[in-house]
Amino acid sequence: MPLERSKRWESPHEFKGARPLVKVFLSQSAFDRISVHSTAEMDDEVGGALIGLWCLDRDTNEQFVVVQHMLPARHTRQGSVYLTFTQDTIVDFHDEIEKNYTGKRIVGWYHTHPRMGIFLSHYDTWLHHNFFPEPWQVALVVEPHKSLAGFFVRRDDGALDPTRYFGFYELNGNMGRSMIEWNNLQSTDEESEGV
Ligand SMILES: [Zn+2]
Repeated sequence: MPLERSKRWESPHEFKGARPLVKVFLSQSAFDRISVHSTAEMDDEVGGALIGLWCLDRDTNEQFVVVQHMLPARHTRQGSVYLTFTQDTIVDFHDEIEKNYTGKRIVGWYHTHPRMGIFLSHYDTWLHHNFFPEPWQVALVVEPHKSLAGFFVRRDDGALDPTRYFGFYELNGNMGRSMIEWNNLQSTDEESEGV
């Protein structure tokens, strides 16, 4: 697990006893592309897939995902308060992975909540369970106006809390300049959170 070269970003919800099943590592290039996509459309929701790796740390037996790329969703239906993936959206993701990201997985999805908070709606939760049913698949919600974000991750018992989001690790965030500009997350220089 690449903890030592990552910068930890903590969510305000993380000290309330919930333990995520997976830790999330986000590459700076994926962050950059998600930010560009999120701010390109400030009124309607947009979204896409998070592409990367699902890993098991041999030493600690902990699971983690690495978000390396993103794919904007096509074949969606969208409006100011909803974003719908269709079966064609998912087929398109798999086609793109086969063509350009061989061996990578869909580790989750992201979407924006313009002028709303960071949560999963009933519909988002339905979409997550139906299109991203693997226990280690995550959902990222981004609010582009105030620049807020959070990852929704299933707990080790499989439950998903739609109101409490987790932070993540910025890959290579300790090696050079940090890029993250999400105002609701706090950085910490601790290398470990004592798990
Ligand atoms: Zn939503």
